[in-house]
Amino acid sequence: MTESDWLTGDDPRPMLAHLLGGWQTTLRPGAVREPVDFNRRPGVTDRKLRLFAAAAWRLRAARRGGEDWAAREAVACRAEAIADGLAEAGDWAYSWTGYGPVQANAAFAALGLLGSPGVPCLGLPGEADLLRDVFGNVFRPVMLDRSWLTPTVVAIARRIYDDRAFADMPVLHDALVEAGCTDEAILAHCRGQERCPECFDGPEGARVYCEACDGSGRKGWVPLRGPHVRGCWVIDLLLGKE
Ligand SMILES: [Zn+2]
Ligand SMILES: [Zn+2]
Repeated sequence: MTESDWLTGDDPRPMLAHLLGGWQTTLRPGAVREPVDFNRRPGVTDRKLRLFAAAAWRLRAARRGGEDWAAREAVACRAEAIADGLAEAGDWAYSWTGYGPVQANAAFAALGLLGSPGVPCLGLPGEADLLRDVFGNVFRPVMLDRSWLTPTVVAIARRIYDDRAFADMPVLHDALVEAGCTDEAILAHCRGQERCPECFDGPEGARVYCEACDGSGRKGWVPLRGPHVRGCWVIDLLLGKE
């Protein structure tokens, strides 16, 4: 997988395979299917995998609509609580589509929603965007400068996290600028932008703009396709969550 694949992909499964370093599912006695992942990339934690699963679950619930919305929202909230160590994972539901996000194995919680190689794609449009929000651009890790962590920045980030108040991302942007943050990727993400997949790095490391970005004021950034969700890489970075 290349950076461009990561930035443009619509199928979450190869992206998850990239994060997990490949996987296989084994069928153990008792018919408990368990994913085995071999070589997770740095930063691919159980917590983040489960938060992705919760967000994907919510996305599906919203698309399906119907009267059991509240019950499905409760599952998403429970998965988020498990991710943050506030609740225990249940042993229930290791089925592909059951209560996927709350099951004990976090990698399977993420994978179980999507199917597996050789199984027809169960990934839905939008789920790749959720992966990008939770894991960021895995080809360009962003370093935190602790001087940005002013009380204001931390308080805003904390509130956004706790209340899922993502409408306040622009407020966080301004607080970060005030704190001296100049990291383009972080500021762009808060402004609702992501790196243009058509622009690329030139030989000297300078950004070479694509035709659409060149002279357009886009400067290599395009509107973010997906929403922010709990686990958003910028909020996690500022709050020291992995
Ligand atoms: Zn471009
Ligand atoms: Zn985000």
